Amino acid sequence: MNKTGRKKSFRLPEWTPDQAGKAFASRIVSGKTADKRKKTDLHKSPAAKTPVSYNLDDLMKGVLANDRTVLSKAITLLESNAPKHFLPAQELVKKLLPYSGNSVRIGVTGVPGAGKSTFIEALGLLLIRQNHKVAVLAIDPSSSISKGSILGDKTRMENLARMENSFIRPSPASGILGGVARKTRETIIACEAAGYDVILVETVGVGQSEITVRSMVDFFLLLQITGAGDELQDIKKGVIELADLIVINKADGDNLQKAEAAKAEINQILPYLQPLTEGWKTVALTCSALTGYNIQLIWDKINEFVRITKNNGIFPQRRKQQQLEWLDTLLKEELHNLFFSNSVINQNYEAYKQKILAGETTPVLAAADLIELFIEQGFSKHKKV
Ligand code: GDP
Repeated sequence: MNKTGRKKSFRLPEWTPDQAGKAFASRIVSGKTADKRKKTDLHKSPAAKTPVSYNLDDLMKGVLANDRTVLSKAITLLESNAPKHFLPAQELVKKLLPYSGNSVRIGVTGVPGAGKSTFIEALGLLLIRQNHKVAVLAIDPSSSISKGSILGDKTRMENLARMENSFIRPSPASGILGGVARKTRETIIACEAAGYDVILVETVGVGQSEITVRSMVDFFLLLQITGAGDELQDIKKGVIELADLIVINKADGDNLQKAEAAKAEINQILPYLQPLTEGWKTVALTCSALTGYNIQLIWDKINEFVRITKNNGIFPQRRKQQQLEWLDTLLKEELHNLFFSNSVINQNYEAYKQKILAGETTPVLAAADLIELFIEQGFSKHKKV
């Protein structure tokens, strides 16, 4: 018996408060018995985990034929963090690239509860009725930071998911935002090659994710609701300046008046802000994702935007610029990773941090020394011998 008088199979740390019960208990569980079958048998068993192998030509053919199962498999390859998948994934992107680009890429942001899923489903269903093919992707910053998910899995858009001409892919769940964004960019390429002509990229209005999504879409839509104080928040954070259209959602029932008032208020502020897209005036509209009110009007606005920016050349120019920004982002990330995967650098980095805190050197000198050291290491991941 232990100090709370419970059976010995529970272990309680010494500092457990007397009344805490099992709250801090740990329990020893016996391990699973090893599978006695031979390794080869395991591979034959249908339940056994066989390593996923990819045939790039089959993947490409399947994606181009819009086989959604193959498209999912291709995206799984693109999302893989396994080093052995890096080259095949890049090879696949290269193969698909000539077939990509033929879509409108739309970013949708808003605080949790603004109605993003409901809105995307309403817009998606409307577009499918008009013979479009709609892919929905998500960048969820929470899943990269805490492994939790604000956006949740996209089974929420059940009606849209059931449609033959829709493809819904939840956010890649791991890695830093930059890595997640890379995967989403490549997923866009795969979806376009599969024939999806409207790509909706959903994100939550927290942190860096809006800027990240803005950097991969043609059109950026900010979904707002009244009464949450978001209108002003978004102005402060500069999100409104990223938007090509602001939509006040939930303009229905008792909330209709308030939504209209919020729209008018924002439309008064907008002329004082610098629009992000040359030749385009950002405006605010109202809609109800629940009743479908104004969803067609929003799609008309998006089309107007595409027409104007294709005519004035901004549309293709932005896409080219995004490609180059992507290159810069990748270089920064790769250099950062290379730098910190070097063991000598890592040891010295810690030492320099202490020196800075002790006032023995400055951040500028420390950075210069560390970079010098990195050059001496020959830019290698490991210590030179
Ligand atoms: P998200 O977190 O931004 O994806 O928001 P959801 O789409 O999950 O919606 C949050 C809640 O708002 C849900 O209960 C929806 O039913 C509700 N909602 C979404 N759009 C509307 C709308 O246009 N009108 C009303 N009244 N409720 C809505």
